[in-house]
Amino acid sequence: MIHGGGEGAIVPAGADFNVMQWPSLIDRPEKPAVEDAISRLALDHISDGVLVADMRLRGHPIIQVNPAFERITGYPACEAIGKNCRYLQGSDRLQPELAEIRAALAEGHACSVTLRNFRRDGTMFRNALRLEPLHDNQGHLTHFVGIIRDVTHAAGVDRLTGLLDRNGLLDRLAQIEMQAGSVLLVIKLDILRFHDVNNGFGYDVGDALLCSASARLGTLPAVAISRIDGNNFVLAFELVDVGMAGQIVSDVLDLLRPRFILPGASLAVQFAAGYTIGVAGSDPLQFLRRAGAALQHSKALPDHTPRPFAEADDRDARNRVRLANELQSAVSNEELLFHYQPQVDLGSGDLIGAEALLRWNHGAFGLQQPMRFIGVAEETGAIMDIGAWGLRTLAAYAARINQSRRAPFRFALNVSVMEFTRQDMVASVERVLEETGCRAEWLTLELTENLMAPEPDDIRRAFEHLRRLGVSISIDDFGTGYSNLRYLERFPLSELKIDRSFVRDVAESSVKRVIVESIVKLGAALDTRVVAEGIETEAERAIMRELGCSVGQGFLFAPPLDEHRFELLLNEGLVVREERQQRLLENYRSKPA
Ligand code: C2E
Ligand code: MG
Ligand code: MG
Repeated sequence: MIHGGGEGAIVPAGADFNVMQWPSLIDRPEKPAVEDAISRLALDHISDGVLVADMRLRGHPIIQVNPAFERITGYPACEAIGKNCRYLQGSDRLQPELAEIRAALAEGHACSVTLRNFRRDGTMFRNALRLEPLHDNQGHLTHFVGIIRDVTHAAGVDRLTGLLDRNGLLDRLAQIEMQAGSVLLVIKLDILRFHDVNNGFGYDVGDALLCSASARLGTLPAVAISRIDGNNFVLAFELVDVGMAGQIVSDVLDLLRPRFILPGASLAVQFAAGYTIGVAGSDPLQFLRRAGAALQHSKALPDHTPRPFAEADDRDARNRVRLANELQSAVSNEELLFHYQPQVDLGSGDLIGAEALLRWNHGAFGLQQPMRFIGVAEETGAIMDIGAWGLRTLAAYAARINQSRRAPFRFALNVSVMEFTRQDMVASVERVLEETGCRAEWLTLELTENLMAPEPDDIRRAFEHLRRLGVSISIDDFGTGYSNLRYLERFPLSELKIDRSFVRDVAESSVKRVIVESIVKLGAALDTRVVAEGIETEAERAIMRELGCSVGQGFLFAPPLDEHRFELLLNEGLVVREERQQRLLENYRSKPA
């Protein structure tokens, strides 16, 4: 039962198109009954959706659809008929393929494109659409027949987002390259700390974020848009003017900057981007590799500014693979160590504690900063061994340092989310405290605020248990993460560590002052200490103190120091105060470890 009303005489135009060989799609009174029946039977049973639009009527309404159309789109015939087929695109109207369709309709020729369309329930499907024009005996365009094939789960398409997958992208790049002469801009994007979203909010929210980001990317006039794996997107643009590359990249990032409002979370996420420009005709894999190497470089920059590919990035990429392999044995080779950055009571100026910051003394590359390897360690799981080593080492060190002190000296350890979700952190801490003689009050665990997500009851219980033991819990980089303030009250915290982006230039920014003030108030209400990190100038110190932060950390006081220098400072600091201590710190600051 093909649905719809009959129209005048039609001659199919596309000879290569089987369904259209049956002229009975649109009823013709003179047509033999048997032929008519065969056509209807075929249309009722083919798996492709078919629609017929009347090009002579205003708005080019759909006049017929077959059962497969209803099945694929979820729209019953009675709802589809009378509409322009554009309604299947929902509000997703900026797809580059639509230009091809408009040209085909205007000029009355056939076309094949793959579009994002939306079912009646709002879910997206990839529609490999074939449009065939029908002309009357005088050669006037009367109808268009659309053949709809749902290729959402076809090879080359990413199931979750409907974008191209890695293979689909490579095919597409190869096709574009056949039209040699054009210049391609290939951008690779990565959602920073995506695993924190998954771990903290759950995979549903992670998936929703990926879909939502894909929908935004889908509005760009790119020649290819794909999710090649996990949280990696690749876009290709044809460049008319090579000088526009940087602008296009920043437009893409601007599009992704507004918060993502998802079921269960509202997230502002940061994307890193690497890009490369090449002449069509070169190896598609090379485009991907180069954009990827530039991306890695961008991720290693403190502010993650987008990076164009440079030859040196290739070397970096090879080094990263090497780092990942070697990191596995860094612990057993005793290549890891801590530097210690002092924390100062902003009221009295006393040294009251230190943050342990990880360093890797790599045989060939020298001393490596955590930025270079923590991400790799988390990706490869090496962070579990590293974290266990760090906890034990720091606890033993805290026990040794505190032996000769009257006032307890607190050490802070950075802990990755994975260390909480993949093991029993409470049991590890209890064991280490017992074995090293470290007292719980000498230890603070610093976690970035992403942990405070809706569901992690296990993590909350672990925090409660650690707090009962006497271990402090600090939220690091506070103000930059995805936290929902409501959860603050549910988590038993000891400390909020204001991110250094709010401390930097606080003297010149009234907004930053207000933010710091609010965090201090929040801290008071939650009965937690507030630490300001990254204090670099006297003015910043004075303001942070005035605004009520109790503890400060930053280059003004001292950079992270190796064990030897740290202990010198500590021992001197025990006897000297105020000005002498300041001078001493000046001295250490001028010779960063
Ligand atoms: P974080 O915990 O926020 O550590 C503070 C970072 O700021 C340190 O960088 C420190 O050297 C730097 N810093 C301190 N004072 C100043 C300042 O006045 N100005 C500026 N511009 N920077 C300052 P670092 O040592 O490179 O550590 C980077 C990050 O690596 C840490 O950020 C932490 O998230 C992570 N990390 C460090 N050690 C470990 C560890 O043992 N385990 C884990 N999972 N992560 C670690
Ligand atoms: Mg920290
Ligand atoms: Mg921090």
